[in-house]
Amino acid sequence: MSTWSERDESSIWHPFTPLVGLDPALAVTKGEGVYLHTEDGQQIIDAISSWWVNLHGHSHPKIAEAIAEQARTLEHVIFAGFTHPPAVALAERLLGHLPDNQSRIFYSDNGSTAVEVALKMAMQFWYNQGKEKPTIVALDGSYHGDTFGSMSVGDRSPFSAPFDRYLFDVEFLEFPSREKEEAVLERFTQLCQSGRVGAFIFEPLIQGASGMRMYRAKLLDALIEVAHAHEVICIADEVMTGFARTGRFFASDYLTHKPDIFCLSKGLTGGALPMGVTSCTEAIMDAYRSEDLLKTFFHGHSFTANPMACAAALASMDLLEEEACTQQRNQIAASHSLFMDRLQDHPKVENLRTSGTIVAFDYVDKRGDTNYFNEARHRLYPFFIKQGVLLRPLGNVVYVLPPYCITPEQLDVVYNAIDKALEKI
Ligand SMILES: *Cc1c(COP(=O)(O)O)cnc(C)c1O
Repeated sequence: MSTWSERDESSIWHPFTPLVGLDPALAVTKGEGVYLHTEDGQQIIDAISSWWVNLHGHSHPKIAEAIAEQARTLEHVIFAGFTHPPAVALAERLLGHLPDNQSRIFYSDNGSTAVEVALKMAMQFWYNQGKEKPTIVALDGSYHGDTFGSMSVGDRSPFSAPFDRYLFDVEFLEFPSREKEEAVLERFTQLCQSGRVGAFIFEPLIQGASGMRMYRAKLLDALIEVAHAHEVICIADEVMTGFARTGRFFASDYLTHKPDIFCLSKGLTGGALPMGVTSCTEAIMDAYRSEDLLKTFFHGHSFTANPMACAAALASMDLLEEEACTQQRNQIAASHSLFMDRLQDHPKVENLRTSGTIVAFDYVDKRGDTNYFNEARHRLYPFFIKQGVLLRPLGNVVYVLPPYCITPEQLDVVYNAIDKALEKI
């Protein structure tokens, strides 16, 4: 009998995975809390929340129960002309957490579609009013997803190279590191003064995929202030940062000036089912309110507002709002901070940084620069797996982004694996 892992090799094409030179995919047969159990009996701590989606641990009984219950009641229904209780309850619940200027929830399927919807909402907002504001501004190093619109507003990289000629033009601002802040603000102001900028999209405070790169809330606040002075729609892509990853419920909660559109996904359902959300202000929606049918927002997905996904999200929100969960997140932040003290002077560690439940550093490798293709990743990843820890460095950026239910002892296992890697690799 061949293993699941072997059978996978002749039937499946995996995401973000070179087809040559890598080990076969590990088959996970059970998930429980922070642990993934593989078919060959290994137990692995999921220290990256399975690509940043999992909040409360795997196969959480409350989320599982909510999904099962909803599946028996109403598994799915068309969302044009119909609605259902979990969609309404979730929208109200999300609006309770989003800034006061947010008043509408548009459902879709994942982070990329949440971004597509945001871009189209902003573009058609200007179109419906007959205003010419075609320019979109984004940040260098940004990642907003893998569909064409979201790729267009993302950094041009070796990943996007085969498609670059099909991507629409975007004005990219330099990444606003501390020393670049003033220049970035000045360039953005100039762009806005042209009157042609219609939207500005950003990952608030942390760029995830480009290596957990952090920048200051103060600068983002200044950018949004300039944008609003020039009627530019600000789109916060909180797909990674949402649902308390950075310490506050949304990263935008650190801002004084609030974005006009929010994109949510990843942690939305606690990591159990795919779902995306794009929220917007009443003013944006107003531009679509017309007797003229052609001003309708003609966008939708077959599984828009899937009731089971809504139910999972509601169950996840219940857990997230418990005091115990806040304590868990504070505990993680405190542990990260001690771990950072420990790594502070390590010769192979640079740019130690943290935000809420995330800690990251650059693994200094004389053999390469900081980027995704840095070969350090190819040595570190299998080493961590052997230690029973799932960490998936972005190039030479090592980061920990655990489910909130991880215990201090389990976190120590993760930190120790990193210590060992620093010693041996
Ligand atoms: C992951 C991610 C996306 C894309 O989400 P998918 O669900 O993978 O399509 C978009 N924006 C940010 C900031 C992300 O981290």
